[in-house]
This record gives sequence, C-alpha cells and structure tokens, in this order.
Amino acid sequence: MSKIQQIWDNILTEIEGEISALPFDLWIKTLSPVCIYKDRLVLLANTEATKNITEKRYRSTIKKVMQKVFPSLSDVEIITEEEKQAFDQYVESDNDLPINESIAPDEELEQTDRFVESYTFDNFVVGKSNEFANAAARAVAEKPGSKYNPLFLYGGVGLGKTHLMHAIGNYHKQNLKYIKCIYISSERFTNELIEALSDSKKRDSMKNFRKKYRDADVLMIDDIQFIARTVATQEEIFHTFNDLYLAGKQIIISSDRPPKEIAPLEERLRTRFECGLVADISQPDLEMRIAILEKMCNAEGVYMDRNILREIAEKVTSNIRDLKGLLTRVIFFANLTGKDCNDAEMVKNALKDYADDKNEVITMVKITNCVAEYFNISTEEIKGKKKTKEIVLPRQISIYLITELLTIPLINIGEFFGGKDHTTIMHARDKISASMRENSLLATQVKDIKDMILKK
Ligand code: ADP
Ligand code: MG
Repeated sequence: MSKIQQIWDNILTEIEGEISALPFDLWIKTLSPVCIYKDRLVLLANTEATKNITEKRYRSTIKKVMQKVFPSLSDVEIITEEEKQAFDQYVESDNDLPINESIAPDEELEQTDRFVESYTFDNFVVGKSNEFANAAARAVAEKPGSKYNPLFLYGGVGLGKTHLMHAIGNYHKQNLKYIKCIYISSERFTNELIEALSDSKKRDSMKNFRKKYRDADVLMIDDIQFIARTVATQEEIFHTFNDLYLAGKQIIISSDRPPKEIAPLEERLRTRFECGLVADISQPDLEMRIAILEKMCNAEGVYMDRNILREIAEKVTSNIRDLKGLLTRVIFFANLTGKDCNDAEMVKNALKDYADDKNEVITMVKITNCVAEYFNISTEEIKGKKKTKEIVLPRQISIYLITELLTIPLINIGEFFGGKDHTTIMHARDKISASMRENSLLATQVKDIKDMILKK
C-alpha cells in the first residue's frame, strides 16, 4: 500500500469515530487521496456534488482529525477529476513542484534529536509580538544552561513555539555539535513513560527511559499543558527537571498558556517553571503577517504582489500556521488552474472558499449559544449571575468547552462571563472534567453539545 494511502487510512479510522455511519459511507469513504502538496492533503471526489457536500459539511471534521493524527499537515483540499487532470498536466510540465508522496509527514518529528530543517532562526520573522521570545531563545541557544533556566515559552496555537524550539535544536546541530539536545512533546513523553512503567522488565525500561532524558544537555518539552492530565508524568518531569537543573543543564518548556493557568499542576512544578524566564508570544500585527508571507514567497521562489499579500494577511489574524496555509492554498489554486499567482480572479476564488471556512470559526459566543440552545435557556442567563442548578451546570459546561476548544486566557473567559475571577473559571472547568469521568450522562451531553458546535 502506498504511503499516501496509509496516511488516508489512518485518518479515515479516526473520522469513523467522529461522524455517523451513513454520511461516512456515503461521502467520506468515496474520497481518495491524491497527494500531499506541501502542508495539505489533496483528496479526489468522484463527482462535483460529492466535492461540494464534503467541502461544506465535512471538511472541518476531516481537517481537525487529520491535524490530530498528522500534526504537520494543516489543511485539506478536495478536487474533482477534471481539476486533477489540469493539476497533473501542470505537475508534469514542472518537475520541481513539491508533490511529496514518499515521506510520512510527521516522520521528521518522530525522533527526539531531529529537527525540522526549515524551522531556523533565519526563517523566523521577528516583530513586536515575538521579539522577546525570539531573543530569549537565541540567548539560550548560544549559551545553554547559563542564563535563562528554565525558559518557559507560551502563546496561542500556531504562533511559533515549536518553530523556536526546533531553531534552537538546529542551531546546536550546526554550531555546538557536542551538545546533546533533546526535543519531545509532553504527550509523547507521557506515552513513553506509560510504556516503560507497564513493561514487564520494568526496572530496565524505566532505567533506560530516565537515562535518555537525564543525559540531555538541553531538554525541550513542547506543549507541557498536556502533562496536567497524568500524575505519573508530573512526578517524572519533576525529578527529571531537578536532576537537569542541578547539573546546570538547559530546560526549555512551551505551553499554550502561562504556568499559573495550567491545571491541575502540582505547585512544586509551577514554581519551577516560573523560576527562570517566562516569555510570551502574542498575535502578529498586519505588517508582520505581510512580512511572513513575503519571506515565504521568497523561499518558494514565487513572486506575489504586495496588495495580494495584504489581502491574504487580512484574512488570518491569529494563527501563523493558518496564514501560511492560506498562501499555500493560493499557490495550489494557481497550479490547479494553470494561472499566474497574481491573477486577481484566481486569488479571489481561493480566498472566497477560505472565507466560507472562516464562518465556521468557533468563538466563546458560539459555544455559549449552543449550550443555551441545548438546555433551552438564554445565553444571557448563562453569562449572568443566577446560581440555580438549571443555570449553573450549563454555565460550567460552557466554560469547560471554551477551555477545551479554544485557547483563550482564563482571565478573558472570566471577563466574558460577567467579570468572574480566573480561579472561578478554573474551578468550573475542572469540575466538569472530573464529573464527566464518573457521570456518563454528563459525558454524553457534553459530547453532543461539542458535536453541535463543531458541525454547525
Ligand atoms: P506553535 O508551536 O506555537 O503552535 P508552530 O511553531 O508550529 O506554532 O508554528 C506554526 C507555523 O507558523 C510553522 O510553519 C512556523 O514555521 C510558522 N511560524 C510561526 N511563527 C513564525 C514567524 N515568526 N516567522 C515565520 N514563520 C513562523
Ligand atoms: Mg507547537
């Protein structure tokens, strides 16, 4: 079986658990994978109608599942046979077009000492929103273990945390070859730990596990917010942290939120995360977004008019991965239709579809509206101060879903709910998350509402 087919099969298995059987058989299963074009999976629909329906109703689900299974893929394109032919012709006449069937997309992230080549400091556009984090990462890369230890980077999804970590790794590979630099996501750290703990030859595998991480000169743990789920991981990270820290080794941690908002997190770990340098990355302004697109065009060897780049940059404000994805989409459309990248009509078409996609964006308002609809109460009541049982549960569910589906600081969520304190928000979130484990009715309700939000 080809690699691309394997990738699609993996995604299919996951999608099956997400949507009902009928639409799955009727639509999703009829799609076939064509190729991976840069960061996007290209799927072939056998009819125009299938393309329209799957795009409208299921694209966001396919995209969401795909990003979970293959984090380095960021979007999906669905094309018809006719479009595929135009595309194939174009590809034939241009052998440089990077259609990539041979590497599994996240293979490069599998090993803990391999870094994505393009994630370098040189390729990182610096502006107001990230200059502090960038400077800190550079300082740490040049002199690991000396100044800012640990370095705690935090910021929303797609704003460059992983990029900066890999840039540090790449820097070491180039300039400080003797340094042992290890990068791992906290999810993978947890999985390896669980595997080692459940191994029958427990002693050896735990010993190897510990050795692997405690031998590092630089240890980078990405997306640390996920360790909150397991006590064993927190315990292990605590000891790894202490060993490395006392030996003067560099630790770099990233998260989508500041240490004080990670929950549940043992206090002793929180204190340690905060004891070095905490640097945040915020959303890039328009000028910076245009600069990022310009840089990407240069790297791709395509020329695009500044007005068009501005148009693209105005569409995506909060996620650089999506921003880059949209540029790739325009280039993809140009290839698909055989048009020039600056063809206004073609660009309009490429962006139009994105705008449709954007309508599905999930916001705090949308989540609260869905919960209100489900419980047949008003959104104002959910956001208000009433403390009756009929209102408190939907309010807590709204808060829980907001923290699960969005990355918004707790303080801002508190503001949205009429000026509540961030600890109240944290309490509501943890309460629902704990109750769901014991109360299957509640778990089903929450899942149903979540489906409603994601499908609307
Ligand atoms: P995070 O880990 O914060 O979710 P990533 O590091 O994965 O985000 O970044 C998402 C994408 O955006 C990557 O392709 C990355 O190269 C790109 N990116 C992020 N910030 C910048 C930047 N300042 N300059 C250039 N590319 C960036
Ligand atoms: Mg990341």
